[in-house]
Amino acid sequence: MTKSIPVAIIGAGPYGLSIAAHLRACGVEHRIFGRTMGPWRTQMPAGMHLKSEGFASTLYDPQSAFTLKQYCHDAGLPYADLGLPVPLDTLNAYGLAFQSRFAPDVEDRLVAGLDRREDEFVLTLDDGETVAADAVVVAVGLSYFRQIPPALEGLGSEFITHSQDHHDLTPFKSRKVVVIGGGSSAIDLATLLHESGADAQLVARGQSLSIHEKMQLPRPLWDRLTAPMSGVGPGWRSLLYSDFPQLFHWIPEQRRLRIVRKSLGPSAGWFMKERFVGKVPALLGYTVDCAEIKGGRVNLHLLGRDGARKQLTAEHVVAATGYAPDVRRLPFLSASILGRLKTAGNTPVLSSSLQSTVPGLYFAGPAAANSFGPVLRFIVGAKFAAPQIANHIVRATRARKPYVAAPAYGDRQASVQRGGRVSG
Ligand SMILES: Cc1cc2nc3c(=O)[nH]c(=O)nc-3n(C[C@H](O)[C@H](O)[C@H](O)COP(=O)(O)OP(=O)(O)OC[C@H]3O[C@@H](n4cnc5c(N)ncnc54)[C@H](O)[C@@H]3O)c2cc1C
Repeated sequence: MTKSIPVAIIGAGPYGLSIAAHLRACGVEHRIFGRTMGPWRTQMPAGMHLKSEGFASTLYDPQSAFTLKQYCHDAGLPYADLGLPVPLDTLNAYGLAFQSRFAPDVEDRLVAGLDRREDEFVLTLDDGETVAADAVVVAVGLSYFRQIPPALEGLGSEFITHSQDHHDLTPFKSRKVVVIGGGSSAIDLATLLHESGADAQLVARGQSLSIHEKMQLPRPLWDRLTAPMSGVGPGWRSLLYSDFPQLFHWIPEQRRLRIVRKSLGPSAGWFMKERFVGKVPALLGYTVDCAEIKGGRVNLHLLGRDGARKQLTAEHVVAATGYAPDVRRLPFLSASILGRLKTAGNTPVLSSSLQSTVPGLYFAGPAAANSFGPVLRFIVGAKFAAPQIANHIVRATRARKPYVAAPAYGDRQASVQRGGRVSG
């Protein structure tokens, strides 16, 4: 093992890359591990468009000099801040261009282990190399947190997969595929399967599906006043979530968890309406009660909300049933780190600088949403997370003092009541 580096970033998606860009600009030595825009390039269906608007689908360098808008302008690609869905391919090409400018040394390797020994972290890479670091930022996105309904587990990946298992949909051409789920991923996937020549059907437990309405552009004054635009959609509440994550952090913990669970539900983008409605059959109000393999096909036993029963047969079933962040599912975290990590709602309790209760260990992206609100589930949350983490690391590095974990919310309240000053 070589000398300890100041920072290791685990993850090279929008969060990891934006954090690397900020650290680089401050001259902080770091290494960044992961596949550049990995899940976007391999775990999202080809042909997908982003639900987030153009202005909210950008990565962040400290000067905001290389935005998605700038990239599209330079590359001669269509772009609009609002109302023009961003194709997945465009985001990925932009992400790669951003990486080569601001994080040129991304190492396409996985971290297999992360432990803490005395004052430093020890990362074990998938090829066996060990790296010591003073601070570590975990920005690994959603992939480890996928959910599959228990009734579908154990039937084998030949028959049942998760939506994140599919980028190329052509192998499903002419095959009968059932997509389970009623959110944006399910609607996108069922539509793209249908458009790729599969015999696709969607089954959802809700009685209706939610698809956003197309916004009138330019936005009338009334709309702008009653529902101002934000990085996570229109509305005053969304604006609060999008622009004031630090304020969100002050909300009592249980209330925060409830808000994150309930807000910004899984509606599909407005542009899916005419591609999905009337084209892809949807069976609504049904859950999968149990499933079995018979004659090389999946037999789904469905249970309706009214108690009705139905059977459906498919060659393949895709569970587009989302993600549930839970740090215990991050396979690289050692038991000793997990033991020291204070959590709420299975995600780390974080200070105002996104530092966990393990000094020097930071979390960004969806794993930080319970602390800073739903904006952290989206790319646009990196606008807040990247400078916040980088500035804290810069201060700690310059002070050359060991990292000290900030008090968690409850402790902070107590300290404030005692007149103490708390930062992260
Ligand atoms: C189907 C779908 C559609 C979405 N659409 C939108 C949208 O339109 N707009 C939006 O804002 N958000 C959208 N999201 C949410 C979006 O995926 C996340 O907000 C965003 O990707 C989080 O970025 P991230 O950098 O945290 O993680 P990711 O983009 O998921 O990147 C994770 C990184 O971690 C790396 N990694 C993972 N494990 C390891 C390891 N052990 N060692 C090293 N590296 C590792 C990966 O290789 C990758 O580089 C969507 C999500 C899904 C599932």
